[in-house]
Amino acid sequence: MDYQGALEVVAAAVRSQVGQGQVAQYIPALAAVEAGQFGMAVADMNGDVYGVGDWEEPFSVQSISKTFSLALVLARDGEAIWQRVGREPSGNAFNSLVQLEYENGVPRNPFINAGALVVTDRLQTLTDDASTTLLDFLRAESDNPDLAFDPAVALSETEHGDRNAALAHFMASYGNLENPVPTVLQHYFWQCSIRMSCRDLALAGGFLARHGLRADGGRLLSRREAKQVNAVMLTCGTYDAAGNFAYRVGLPGKSGVGGGIVAVIPGRCTLCVWSPGLDERGNSVAGVAALDHFTTLTGWSVF
Ligand code: GLU
Repeated sequence: MDYQGALEVVAAAVRSQVGQGQVAQYIPALAAVEAGQFGMAVADMNGDVYGVGDWEEPFSVQSISKTFSLALVLARDGEAIWQRVGREPSGNAFNSLVQLEYENGVPRNPFINAGALVVTDRLQTLTDDASTTLLDFLRAESDNPDLAFDPAVALSETEHGDRNAALAHFMASYGNLENPVPTVLQHYFWQCSIRMSCRDLALAGGFLARHGLRADGGRLLSRREAKQVNAVMLTCGTYDAAGNFAYRVGLPGKSGVGGGIVAVIPGRCTLCVWSPGLDERGNSVAGVAALDHFTTLTGWSVF
């Protein structure tokens, strides 16, 4: 496969959509990002990586971090986490409170904020420093020791974090948090603030294409757990637009409000695309279009 050639065809095809949509506004540190940027990278099964456009430019990973913290909890604790978080698409916004009450404080899935808070809580119990554990893992998988938190984003999010605090307190009232709410929120905000490029994320997500094997060949997840993460990405990874994402792209994918999307072609490669302009559901406009073009061009959706 000529990955470089495919990326260049895709980048040219979506050029007119770069800059469309709106950059995330809910915290000032994200609202300041320049909309007209676009990058895309593919990492193959050997860890060779190809890229186009702004593929080496770091951006705020935001909710993409949820994929990795889920994998780290599964790796340490097996499937026990599924007692505390479901795996059904929510059909509601990522920060919705409504379903929590009639489901007794058990979030619908690990990729809405409530579910990610439970996963972060468990990772904190298991490691005593959830966000640093995550950062260390991402540095190792992407072979980039320079990856770092963005304190401005983390602090900005803390100052505007009333909704996430409400979700955490609500779940704590049902006994579904093990650590104090401020500790869980702190690690959640810091993990979302990590800055990575498309290159870094395509490499870091390689274990999902390799059925659970890390970059060094060691096993992170069993094949069954890797299947589970990919399945939840497919059904819940792109907010309340997962149906449309499956329809257009046909791959497991996880997006973030920083404009990044990681997508997995199991057994072949991991992709990451980034363009900060978001649609009304919070997914990158040019990013979804690029993945749609890529799977159409290669015939490599999972369907
Ligand atoms: N840190 C963000 C929040 O909790 C994540 C948003 C996202 O990327 O979905 O609101």
